[in-house]
Amino acid sequence: MKSDEVFEFFRRLAEDNPSPTTELESANPYQLLVAVVLSAQATDASVNVATKPLFEHVKTPQDMVDLGEERLREAIKTIGLFNTKARNVIALSQALIDKYGGGVPRTREQLQELPGVGRKTANVVLNTAFGEETFAVDTHVFRVCNRTGLAPGKNVDEVEAKLEKVVPQPFRRDAHHWLILHGRYTCKARLPECWRCPVIDLCRYEPKTLAPSARPARTATPRSSAARTGSGRTAATPTAGRSRSRPTRLP
Ligand code: SF4
Repeated sequence: MKSDEVFEFFRRLAEDNPSPTTELESANPYQLLVAVVLSAQATDASVNVATKPLFEHVKTPQDMVDLGEERLREAIKTIGLFNTKARNVIALSQALIDKYGGGVPRTREQLQELPGVGRKTANVVLNTAFGEETFAVDTHVFRVCNRTGLAPGKNVDEVEAKLEKVVPQPFRRDAHHWLILHGRYTCKARLPECWRCPVIDLCRYEPKTLAPSARPARTATPRSSAARTGSGRTAATPTAGRSRSRPTRLP
């Protein structure tokens, strides 16, 4: 994608959502760090359900250590990999107390030394808690960057390096939030909703998907009949709450 197209790409996403942020709920950098660690291979919504009551009582690393691993495990048992995550969260909380007086460090290297904290988690914390221009590449960002041609790469490190290179000001700080939200609600994994996409004319992905009303009608099959009656797994799911209908831009 050419540099003027990259600028226009983010200008449109910014126009649509001027103040994007993470959907993980937290009240301070420590809670954000814990929430991001818990969100590995889990949805933000499922993490929020577990952390809402937890964070009413646990606001600092000392609160978490006082709570203990067993009660933490019980509090997050609805989240995948909860055993490992509970162990890591207690260990990282103790490390924050021992090394940083209970604060959250502000460098990637220090963050990545904490148990359960990888590069992506460190980038999210640096960006969201401390305003750094970092590019956390999750599954949504990876997909959108490759599909569109914005920052193609074979792995998350390559995509992150390309984003570092191509994303212009004034979009660098919020770029990863726009990309995550675009991937989560419009450029979806199984079926991108190109017909209502604000960057359709800039995107390299082909063929673009048509609006449901413009697709050829399907012949009824036993499977599709099951879907209509609600007994199959292919029944149409409601559009996510944040999705909005958009005026169509022609490619
Ligand atoms: S046009 Fe389609 S593939 Fe391209 S970014 Fe938009 S939703 Fe994704």
